[in-house]
Amino acid sequence: MNRKTLDDVTLLDENDPLAPFRERFDIPDDLIYLDGNSLGCLPKAAKDRVNDVVAREWGQDLIRSWNSNDWINAPARIGDKIARLIGADDGEVIVGDSTSINVFKCLNACLQIDSTRKTLVTETGNFPTDAYMIEGLASIAPDRITARLVEPGNVVESLNETTAALLLTHTHYKTGRLRDMKAITAAAHAKGVPVIWDLSHSCGAMPVDLNGCNADFAIGCGYKYLNGGPGAPAFTFVARRHQEKVFPALSGWLGHKQPFAFDDRYTPAPGINRFQCGTPGIIGCAALEVGVDLMLEADMLALRQKSSALGDLFIQLVQEQCADFGFDPACPTNAAERGSQVSFHHPDGYAIMQALIARGVIGDFRAPDILRFGFAPLYISYVDVWNAVDILRDVMTSNEWDQALFKQKAAVT
Ligand SMILES: *Cc1c(COP(=O)(O)O)cnc(C)c1O
Repeated sequence: MNRKTLDDVTLLDENDPLAPFRERFDIPDDLIYLDGNSLGCLPKAAKDRVNDVVAREWGQDLIRSWNSNDWINAPARIGDKIARLIGADDGEVIVGDSTSINVFKCLNACLQIDSTRKTLVTETGNFPTDAYMIEGLASIAPDRITARLVEPGNVVESLNETTAALLLTHTHYKTGRLRDMKAITAAAHAKGVPVIWDLSHSCGAMPVDLNGCNADFAIGCGYKYLNGGPGAPAFTFVARRHQEKVFPALSGWLGHKQPFAFDDRYTPAPGINRFQCGTPGIIGCAALEVGVDLMLEADMLALRQKSSALGDLFIQLVQEQCADFGFDPACPTNAAERGSQVSFHHPDGYAIMQALIARGVIGDFRAPDILRFGFAPLYISYVDVWNAVDILRDVMTSNEWDQALFKQKAAVT
């Protein structure tokens, strides 16, 4: 491959069909923000929308807004929009609660679909909350439910007639490795096991085809590639064929068939609404809806193509310009096997990342030694990638990273 020049990279931006989206976000001029996989940028329209929800819908319309501003249907309405991004149908996705809580709901649903099965399986190295939620659910009824962690290479083989659910992340948070959703779902189904897909690092980063893969359940974050804002509500997908089989363990009143009948006993709502629990956070929903609407304007294939190209370019430039500094790819170098992030092992990864952040290149660090860079294709340009690697080389050549102030661990890495 020819060594890339700044001219080559500038040309890529000139021909980028997604380039106009950058204007729709508020991004500080002096930042190269390669962390949209942790917290997406602020869509400009979200500021006005949130202001309107606060000042008018809350401030003026008050309680009437549940009807007049349709607050009550926000979780299902935004769910239907997210459904279009992940290959689901209307009525299969509901917005609300956090990803962690929604993991719990789906695990419980699987235990109900086949009550003879008791083991909840995930893999070692998965995003911790997924494994932790399994442990917590199992602790409620240790005789009935077993938590099981298996090695990543061994996931499908480990399933058997006692397995109630397999919980896997589609794009690995640390390595960026993509799982084959269709093949794994089919292999699990052959053993009678439903699969819960965690789409936190996939939704909004690439096309996802849940129904095309015959998926059972999925959950994902609103604040990463969907740009819904810090702590944005998450989403839950339940395939229509499973919905009526589940009696929600988190049987909150808004999942009731008739919340405003105020019955003493719980009767689940038909369809996806039973996966709601309590009152949705309307301000968070409003911001999330702006992010989702913006994402729906983008062509998902163009998005995936650009995401792959940005990651490939970053890896190539690191190999060309930082070859002497010991960065070892921790992600697949083949874009087809990778989500929208790249990562490298480096023994001084934490300090190097802090030095980069001090220079305005924001990525993040994941223990024990991984530097992680996310490429949100709606607002990251090819020249951003060039400039980021240029600064990385500078930080390494000058030994700028090797200072005590960059080695002190903060609470959030
Ligand atoms: C970010 C992330 C989560 C986050 O869960 P929260 O409940 O929103 O904190 C869960 N799973 C995966 C795979 C993630 O990447």
